Amino acid sequence: MTVTTPSSSSSFESSPLDRLIKTVTGPVLTPADSGFATEIAGFNLATTPVPALVVGARNAADVAAALQYAREVGLRVGVRATGHGPTTEGTDYLTITTGRMNQVVVDPVQRLARVGAGARWSDVVAHTAPYGLTGVVGSASAVGVVGYTLGGGLSPLGRAYGYAADHVRSLEVVTPDGNIRRVDAGAEPDLFWALRGGRDGLGVVTSIEFELVELNAVFGGGLFFAGSAAPAVLEAWRLWAPTLPEEAGTSVALLHLPPDPQLPPVLRGQCVVHLRFTYIGDPLVGADLLAAMRTVGPIVLDEVGQMPVAALDSVHRDPVGPMPAIDSSLGLSELPAPAVAAVIEHAGKQAKTALSIVEIRLMGGKLDHPQGVANSVTGRGCAFHVIAIAPAAGPLGHLAPAHTTAVTDALRPWSTGAVLNFAGGVRWAERSALWSPEDRARLAHVRSAYDPHGVMRVAP
Ligand SMILES: Cc1cc2nc3c(=O)[nH]c(=O)nc-3n(C[C@H](O)[C@H](O)[C@H](O)COP(=O)(O)OP(=O)(O)OC[C@H]3O[C@@H](n4cnc5c(N)ncnc54)[C@H](O)[C@@H]3O)c2cc1C
Repeated sequence: MTVTTPSSSSSFESSPLDRLIKTVTGPVLTPADSGFATEIAGFNLATTPVPALVVGARNAADVAAALQYAREVGLRVGVRATGHGPTTEGTDYLTITTGRMNQVVVDPVQRLARVGAGARWSDVVAHTAPYGLTGVVGSASAVGVVGYTLGGGLSPLGRAYGYAADHVRSLEVVTPDGNIRRVDAGAEPDLFWALRGGRDGLGVVTSIEFELVELNAVFGGGLFFAGSAAPAVLEAWRLWAPTLPEEAGTSVALLHLPPDPQLPPVLRGQCVVHLRFTYIGDPLVGADLLAAMRTVGPIVLDEVGQMPVAALDSVHRDPVGPMPAIDSSLGLSELPAPAVAAVIEHAGKQAKTALSIVEIRLMGGKLDHPQGVANSVTGRGCAFHVIAIAPAAGPLGHLAPAHTTAVTDALRPWSTGAVLNFAGGVRWAERSALWSPEDRARLAHVRSAYDPHGVMRVAP
């Protein structure tokens, strides 16, 4: 166990805030300061926080000083890297921003990467791709590596490699008591277990070390079908997807796209079905596996081919934002025909809906069990995962919360578990249901051991 305490300068004359400003090397900003809005800006405009203070950390000592200050003056502490996740932080919070800590170091021989709390997947891929290596990346490389991994890290490659959290070797974390700790399977194993999947209320991770997998290229991409073919495509997909080997990943999404000039002309302003596919083996085998789905409806755009791992973003084509996104999600034990019919009813071409995306993802394979040291990742054992997303803007924006939850409510008869990273719409009080009773109790125990005063407790 490595524990270091930051040195704090103190003087009788100066206030706690003066001391904080003198101690930290990054900016310390209140809402009245210019630069505050830029410092706190992030992807999801639906959840922009307005904390009492924001500390732009450059290193672990800055984080420790911010936590010490927050304890001293009675503020709670939140963390923000890219703002892709939800936030419930109110005006009684100090938010630590981590974007400046974006260093990436790759050891190609040991196949390890050590990255700072502010690094995005795009930063990491740029360093690993030249060695034919990759982390277990998500569908959008603008997402932060640490936030993604602590919430599990569900990759389009997940059926082949497991969750990103399964590949973590060690973490540097500043716990709410202000101590800087190196945490791994041997040192503080309970905290190591809890952080990898439990994410919140345990400390501020300042760097993460994880194993890389050997992968240069992937066969895959997207097939876009006309929205009118949604019933046939989804019916064929629900029967086809579970027959795939674990080297293959797939999801299917009903998209209601805006007339965005950045989109290919054939997609602008259209309702389409987007079938996503990845295969990490021989491209000819991948093409054979996908062939059955090519005939189930009219394809309006075909983006499938062999691609470098660095191009994986093109498989899901997630929005690059920023945008005010509302979502609702759940895991499913099965995907029977009535479940598909419910999705079509709420999100099909005929629906007058605020929804922009309803995605059904095939789970299983190596996602079902921890790969390596056990952790607290949620969503194990789901056969499928569904997320409904709607922008809280535009003429139907006010309907976004109702329309997203209507989809998941309709699928409730088949629900089992959920993935923390996609549980943005779930209130904290209900989030504990994502874990088994045993894991929930263990998480609560670890949280109260490391944060007895609730400095980092997440608000309901
Ligand atoms: C377009 C898009 C695509 C996505 N794709 C995927 C995907 O493919 N797979 C997947 O699993 N998830 C995905 N997500 C969800 C995403 O992984 C989570 O929202 C994740 O928490 C984002 O982390 P962040 O640091 O980028 O965002 P932030 O909003 O900055 O952080 C979100 C939360 O992460 C925690 N956190 C962040 N940094 C730290 C830290 N240093 N220490 C402790 N806690 C920290 C905090 O609880 C924070 O509130 C996606 C989200 C979006 C918007």
